[in-house]
Amino acid sequence: MARIRFNNVEKKYANGFHAVQNLTLDIQDKEFLVLLGPSGCGKSTTLNMIAGLEDVSGGALLFDDELVNYTPPHKRDVAMVFQSYALYPHKSVFDNIAFGLQMRKVDRAEIDKRVREAAEKLEITHLLDRRPSQLSGGQRQRVALGRAMVREPSVFLMDEPLSNLDAALRISMRAEIKELHQSMQTTFVYVTHDQAEALTLADRIVVMKDGVVKQVGTPDDIYERP
Ligand code: ADP
Ligand code: ADP
Repeated sequence: MARIRFNNVEKKYANGFHAVQNLTLDIQDKEFLVLLGPSGCGKSTTLNMIAGLEDVSGGALLFDDELVNYTPPHKRDVAMVFQSYALYPHKSVFDNIAFGLQMRKVDRAEIDKRVREAAEKLEITHLLDRRPSQLSGGQRQRVALGRAMVREPSVFLMDEPLSNLDAALRISMRAEIKELHQSMQTTFVYVTHDQAEALTLADRIVVMKDGVVKQVGTPDDIYERP
């Protein structure tokens, strides 16, 4: 699975609020797609529909040519990185990274191999025995990235993954995420309200406002550089 299609998708929350309307969008295999727009415009809702964390109220969501409107999250070939990291405080870094694989009954030697490879790539091997509370923000975010990487998903979903980091770290982690995309050869869908971040990372940017897509294009299309 690699290509994601929204066909006239709608999201109406239980309270009646229309968070996303008339969303038609084709996300290509291996592209780095950024959803950009102000807080409340529907970015997370869109990402959560891909993850299966929010259901689709209308229209069709397809992975390749398969309708996934009713496919539960654990049956989707995606992994998500959250702004708040969402690490388990009582587990070690190793177990935080390994957890999704343990749940899926992947065998221990394979888990060990994947966790160590991811940790090496992210330069956190020396932290594998620590707990999240003993890590800096940047280190926690690396653990969250590692947890997504070991799943080897076809699609990486990232919701403001750098927003809790200080400015310098945010800029260096941007470069790391870009490298990760190149080395993993998978589709990335990345949510941010930060235009500079979108312009640096994206192959294509989808600009949203009030639950609708306003513009889709390359960084050059979206931002006329001087
Ligand atoms: P963004 O990620 O762009 O900040 P969201 O997708 O989180 O925006 O939210 C889009 C809109 O939907 C916002 O107005 C938000 O308040 C609303 N919203 C989000 N979740 C819910 C919910 N569970 N119930 C009702 N409204 C929601
Ligand atoms: P984000 O950091 O992505 O902007 P929020 O802080 O807006 O997230 O939302 C956190 C949680 O609260 C999400 O699960 C979202 O669905 C829910 N939520 C957001 N807005 C509303 C709302 N207006 N009514 C009910 N739930 C909401």
